[in-house]
Amino acid sequence: MSTQDKCSVCGSNKLMHDLTIVDHGHMDAKHDLSVHIKTSDRLIFNTFKKSKLNACICGSCGSVNLSVNNPQELWQAYLKHKSL
Ligand SMILES: [Zn+2]
Repeated sequence: MSTQDKCSVCGSNKLMHDLTIVDHGHMDAKHDLSVHIKTSDRLIFNTFKKSKLNACICGSCGSVNLSVNNPQELWQAYLKHKSL
């Protein structure tokens, strides 16, 4: 994973890398936000390719860049998903 050292919006170097975005659910349970791609087409018990979202946030302008750790896996899952 390549990490950028400058904000692509304002050019600031105050970047906060590898932050996770959490969703606060019932009883304040935290869930990491993730991408799900369905890779089977059954009525129940479908299989999904999951990928956690990493955020890189600019400490100057607040721009947020999201990325995943396994883009190749996700791409393969996406191709499979499209052919379902
Ligand atoms: Zn910025």
